[in-house]
Amino acid sequence: MAHIPTSTGSPSWRASVLTLFPEMFPGPLSVSLVGTALEAGLWSLALHQIRDFGIGRHRAVDDTPAGGGAGMVMRADVLAATIDRARETDGDLPLLYMSPRGTPLTQDRVRELSHGPGAMILAGRFEGVDERLIEARGVTEVSIGDYVLSGGEIAAMVLIDACVRLIPGVLGAEESLTHESFENGLLEYPQYTKPRDWEGLSTPEVLMSGDHKKIAEWRRAEAERLTRARRPDLWSARGKNR
Ligand code: SAM
Repeated sequence: MAHIPTSTGSPSWRASVLTLFPEMFPGPLSVSLVGTALEAGLWSLALHQIRDFGIGRHRAVDDTPAGGGAGMVMRADVLAATIDRARETDGDLPLLYMSPRGTPLTQDRVRELSHGPGAMILAGRFEGVDERLIEARGVTEVSIGDYVLSGGEIAAMVLIDACVRLIPGVLGAEESLTHESFENGLLEYPQYTKPRDWEGLSTPEVLMSGDHKKIAEWRRAEAERLTRARRPDLWSARGKNR
């Protein structure tokens, strides 16, 4: 097991990743806000090499699918041993398996996870994992979208990044969270900055008016317009939730 060192003793949010490729971490999680938060000890990252629990001289972690077919399947016994050892060091965290068959990851789920102690995340490879592991260890399957990646590591990074930025103190201004896409069931309104005129395109006049009420109304109307046009699913879900 490897712990990515952080500067303080007890970080508030713990990520524990079970993977065949620990060298992929922290990777993109080491830069910018999330990387600074890792260094500051606002979250921690523990990595568990699944192959350490592999079978035999070759430390096999996979085998052919029962019933035949292409590819290889990760063994339940090897994964269970990895999980059990990881729980000894990282404690009782929600156990997630990144999987295209899983429940789609949403901002609500991310917020819920970020308010908890952290997450233990299994990154799959090959054709996925033996189904019995999911049942025996109470694993929740989580998908980051309707497409198939070659492995769960990047999906795990997506989940960790989304959770960590919601940990108090990670983002500079709390304000920047409140109007974000999905925070109120809407996509975010369009943003502009300097210069005021660029390549014949102007910043909307209302944003330069200094009238905060009018600006808020414009932003709200734009957020609603974009959500209706781009995400009718979100728009109709909003109607039902009100
Ligand atoms: N045979 C599997 C299927 O059709 O559902 C796909 C296996 S995929 C090649 C290998 C691993 O990548 C999976 O075990 C999972 O951990 C990860 N993965 C692939 N797509 C993903 C997605 N959309 N969301 C989360 N994890 C994904």
